[in-house]
Amino acid sequence: MSNVESKKRIGVFTSGGDSQGMNAAVRAVVRAGINAGVEVYAIHEGYKGMVAGDQYIRPLAWSDVGGILQQGGTIIGSARSQEFRTREGRRKAAYHLIEHGIDALVAIGGDGSLTGANLFRQEWPELLAELVAEGRLALGVAAAHPNLAIVGLVGSIDNDMFGTDMTIGADTALHRIVEALDAIASTAASHQRSFVVEVMGRHAGYLALMSALATGADYVFIPESPPPDGWEEEMCATIRAGRERGRRHNTVIVAEGAINRHGDPIESEYVKQVLTERLGEDTRVTLLGHVQRGGSPSAFDRNMSTMLGAAAVEYIAAAPPDDEPQLFGIRDNEVMHSPLMENVHKTQMVAQLIAAGTYDEAMAMRGRSFVESYEILHTLVQAQPRPANPQRSGQRLAVMHLGGPAPGMNAAVRTAVRLGLDRGHTMLAIRNGLVGLLKGTVEEMNWMSVHGWVARGGAELGTSRHSATSADFPRIAEVLAEHRIDGLMLIGGWISYEFAYQLASHAHEYPAFAMPVVCVPASINNDLPGTEISVGADTALNTIVEDVDKIKESAVASQRCYVVEVMGHDCGYLALMSGLASGAERVYLPEEGITLDDLRHDVREMVDGFRHGKRLGLIVRSEHADPYYTTPFLVSLYEKEGGDLFDARPSILGHTQQGGRPSPFDRIQANRLAAVALERLVTLVESGIHDSIAIGRENGKLKFTDLRDMPAMVEPDLHRPKVQRWMALRGLSRKMAECRPPHRSGR
Ligand code: ADP
Repeated sequence: MSNVESKKRIGVFTSGGDSQGMNAAVRAVVRAGINAGVEVYAIHEGYKGMVAGDQYIRPLAWSDVGGILQQGGTIIGSARSQEFRTREGRRKAAYHLIEHGIDALVAIGGDGSLTGANLFRQEWPELLAELVAEGRLALGVAAAHPNLAIVGLVGSIDNDMFGTDMTIGADTALHRIVEALDAIASTAASHQRSFVVEVMGRHAGYLALMSALATGADYVFIPESPPPDGWEEEMCATIRAGRERGRRHNTVIVAEGAINRHGDPIESEYVKQVLTERLGEDTRVTLLGHVQRGGSPSAFDRNMSTMLGAAAVEYIAAAPPDDEPQLFGIRDNEVMHSPLMENVHKTQMVAQLIAAGTYDEAMAMRGRSFVESYEILHTLVQAQPRPANPQRSGQRLAVMHLGGPAPGMNAAVRTAVRLGLDRGHTMLAIRNGLVGLLKGTVEEMNWMSVHGWVARGGAELGTSRHSATSADFPRIAEVLAEHRIDGLMLIGGWISYEFAYQLASHAHEYPAFAMPVVCVPASINNDLPGTEISVGADTALNTIVEDVDKIKESAVASQRCYVVEVMGHDCGYLALMSGLASGAERVYLPEEGITLDDLRHDVREMVDGFRHGKRLGLIVRSEHADPYYTTPFLVSLYEKEGGDLFDARPSILGHTQQGGRPSPFDRIQANRLAAVALERLVTLVESGIHDSIAIGRENGKLKFTDLRDMPAMVEPDLHRPKVQRWMALRGLSRKMAECRPPHRSGR
């Protein structure tokens, strides 16, 4: 027995189906573990390695988990093990853990793996007693490890587990699916084809539903909500009507576990046959398969997994070992934990409800946002608005952008326009932001004017960075009155919030300003008050992280330290989150500024790191981090001090951060925010209330903020809110980058 060290030893393993982000979780377990004073052992190949022992169980040092954030899959391997399902297998596993002095486990896997972990823990005292009786284990050693402590993280692309809003890998899987669907859409349109695309999800429709919402698919089949009998005719009618209105391609998404009302599978091939026979459509089937599990993890998966891995290891390092196993997940972007098996049972219950044909209950268990997304999808996929109710007079609602472009803006406009039309309102678009408003470029939108917009980057309506001044007010009032606009939806950034505020504060002078205004936050900077997240920030973050991955590869090759400058205006969100997702040593934020003492310390750390084997350095600097210590200044400083050890180079990422196709999250977010904002706008117009408000997400919940409170909510003279919850992640970012001696060695 090698258990001579007094330090606690924790095993970490990945098991079952792999998922992107598992590496980030393992890295965080190791690094936060070292910082918490425990030793972390990898159990390679999941339960298979635990049963086999020997070289499968090895300690992980700080540097062993360097450079793995961007890798898909799991570097410590995952497997399925029949042997672990047997008691004999679990006895061997217990022996091998004890052999290494390990009596606490961080298990990363799906409900199967976590169920196995729980059973193992329950049997642990008996397994040890059996090993003692067999003479394989000394009584004293067994007595030193009376319990096995377990924490679980959910690694699963399906996002079907209770106890967490998102599972590790689900966001990246959505990225893969949406990339594939976007690619299919272009070829489908060229040939006027229909595609039936099958996505993963045996008992869960999350990936199918969200990818349908994010790509504007025409029809979706999910296990939780089988279509009514006769769906074939309804599907064909929807697609026929779309074709008649000029759609050039159709996509039907089928979840792997899709069934009809009688519990029989809906096969992709059958859907194809229906489309071919009844509509004469040239139809192809694409099974996305394991592509969905592959590729580099998204920024979200990296950061969430880092948060979870760190919290889990810190918990288990401090918890009494006989504590009930806990599942670590996120709720409303905060790490939380809850009893593991309660969550596993609830998860399995959904599959049982589906099997029993109680679909409404299965749907309800998926939660409100899932159900709402399903309802939004159903309206958006119609080929045309439903006939207007003649009893209700439609309103004239206008949509416009103000501020810089943000990926996802188009998806928000599409949703607002279609939902508005579907409810019988006249939907107007003001083009090119304030410039267009002053020129009076207002046009009526129809159902097909926004066709295909969900996937497009940029701002199809055009936007401008001009802010309104009091000299513009008379003309603005004239245009608003001329077009008889009853309510305004502003989809944009800081300038749109200011404009909404201006309209509200000058309504007494200009009667045409007296109308409800609802802002939808869309800004890559994520600097808006009343919301934790704005549309566009997730795409920008992913763009930065992908670019930094490439920069890191080049830096490793040449012993370099890069100073990467990212956008954000006065807000450090993009800098901190991209630094966390790419493993930056140091992040400089406008919220904190830069001091000479900081620089002295950071340069010393960097030089010391390279002296001890570090091969690359990465510093992320937010564009307004400090007016004096600029990016060129930092580069000069690091270059000089790096001497023969390393070179320093700048990389100013620039406007690519504002462009590109929106990420799945931004599309989904845009849809939801715009849908709820439109409902509120209509209600305000109907009730004659002339508020200027903004929709946002705080603590995970949608809420509206009165923009008259804007001055009190933001930092004076700066573009950022006073309270920014993401700032709490600064400590984690440092913890992942700074190793306490004596463990320092390389990255
Ligand atoms: P996932 O964790 O992705 O749901 P599986 O259900 O295949 O994947 O489980 C992975 C491994 O976890 C299995 O190969 C087995 O070793 C172990 N396992 C799963 N369920 C149990 C169980 N009920 N008892 C013991 N071990 C289990």
